[in-house]
Amino acid sequence: MARIVVIGAGMGAMAAAARLAVAGHRVTVYERAATYGGALGRFERDGFAFDTGPGLLQLPAVHRDLFVKTGKEPLEACVDLVQVDPAARHVFADGTEVSLPNASRAGVVSALDGALGAGAGERWGDFLVRAREAWDRTRRPLLEEPLWADWQVLGEREPYPALRQRRLLRTRTAARLAEVGAWELGDPRLAALLESYALAYGLDPRAVPASAAVLPYMEHAFGAWYVRGGIRELARAVHERCVARRVEFVFGAEVVAITEKDGRATGVELRDGTVSEADFVVGGPPELLKSLTGRDDLYGGEAPGPQPTSPSRGKAVVCLALRGPREAGAAHRTVVHTPNRTEELDHTFTAGTAAPRPTVWVDRPDDPLLRPDDAHESVVLTATVPSLAHHDWAAAGAADAFADRMVAAAERAVPGLRGRVLWREVRTPLHTERETGAPGGGIPAPALAGEGGTRLRPGNTTRIPGLFAVGGWAHPGGGLPHAGMSGSLVAGLIVEGPDFRGSQ
Ligand SMILES: Cc1cc2nc3c(=O)[nH]c(=O)nc-3n(C[C@H](O)[C@H](O)[C@H](O)COP(=O)(O)OP(=O)(O)OC[C@H]3O[C@@H](n4cnc5c(N)ncnc54)[C@H](O)[C@@H]3O)c2cc1C
Repeated sequence: MARIVVIGAGMGAMAAAARLAVAGHRVTVYERAATYGGALGRFERDGFAFDTGPGLLQLPAVHRDLFVKTGKEPLEACVDLVQVDPAARHVFADGTEVSLPNASRAGVVSALDGALGAGAGERWGDFLVRAREAWDRTRRPLLEEPLWADWQVLGEREPYPALRQRRLLRTRTAARLAEVGAWELGDPRLAALLESYALAYGLDPRAVPASAAVLPYMEHAFGAWYVRGGIRELARAVHERCVARRVEFVFGAEVVAITEKDGRATGVELRDGTVSEADFVVGGPPELLKSLTGRDDLYGGEAPGPQPTSPSRGKAVVCLALRGPREAGAAHRTVVHTPNRTEELDHTFTAGTAAPRPTVWVDRPDDPLLRPDDAHESVVLTATVPSLAHHDWAAAGAADAFADRMVAAAERAVPGLRGRVLWREVRTPLHTERETGAPGGGIPAPALAGEGGTRLRPGNTTRIPGLFAVGGWAHPGGGLPHAGMSGSLVAGLIVEGPDFRGSQ
């Protein structure tokens, strides 16, 4: 039995903790905040409750596996998991609307044909077939296996089989996601649909490789899921599973240094001066580990270390307490597309300023647990925004002015919205930075292949024996399923050793 210290109670770290405890190790989690879950926050007031992190869960198989491997009760016995149908309703710039059924190719094809015109559904369906190829080619190395020592190979190969195009007298294939949209989908609304999946992860569709096609594919193939009571319930369940497996949690305990002896990690030091010794230290983001060890050379040699070059974007979140009931049949999620994509992308990614007319995700869970009674409704609006590295969200009025624009956009999805607002809570990357420790309050995206490996994340092993990186900023990247897999990979690397080749 080894003593293992885990830094932070984020979802990736808790997944590692539960798995390591089941393997017979003594695990202690030191979390600087007063609660678990990190980005999976909740805001509550006056009988209203809101998810302040992700509003839906994708690839639930990752969390199902965690619950199967760590105890008798499956995930479904610990949370009330429901498939959201439609997966999303989209309101495009020209006013066209379409509701995409959950995980049904035929349903999606016929919905798109009906809303956008004959042929649109088939073009999207054909695109998903190609996206599946990219998924099949990268699923193992970019989700289920520790980062390859020769990770450069993943950067060299673009797994998306783009169609050959005759353009300007040359034969070309789409290298970027936006080119896939413009050249292969043949409709600006389908292009907007495609690009919105990248934007949701804080990625610029004009810059990300075509391999980002796996993002819509994941939702299409594995569905969009909601956890009754809010997605934070998933964090509650994972925390409970950890506690049941005798993981010890110490809250209000910030790790300020990682101790080393003879080049090996030997434990952590907390802000109050306490030193906790351990055989293994499972940290959070690679950048945090660098600062806690005071070493810049955590990667290299046996410890693969791609250096992501694109700074991540953050999220603005507006929690709306509404008077009046949610109308029957309202979609759980509506994506209200910006009237001007170039303008939004230029602001968010090029200038680093808040977009005048952002794309807004409107989440309206039909969940009595989130509202005081059926005469009220709780709604969450989300938009992708520049992080604190580019934009001063603390400037007077900055957050409120942007929230006004988000509400104005959301009114296209929920007519009369503004008149129903009792109060609102506005959150920006300032909150994300405070609650997760991510510098600038950015959000990590899943690792992607292609583009010279610049969209990969540093691996889970480091050059310091006994020290591991976990969570969305490490391999295989951000988002709930990917961070959950980072926990699985770290546990595998500790339990089975460096030859661990991933879950089977
Ligand atoms: C607003 C928002 C929207 C999002 N939307 C989506 C979405 O739609 N879909 C999706 O899949 N994902 C989404 N994400 C991302 C997703 O929530 C995360 O990638 C996922 O929860 C994994 O987080 P993590 O394991 O990296 O830990 P984090 O959530 O980053 O938590 C890190 C934890 O470590 C603690 N910590 C940090 N430093 C220290 C220290 N020195 N000592 C002790 N503790 C420390 C922090 O307090 C925190 O609790 C969203 C995130 C946010 C913030």
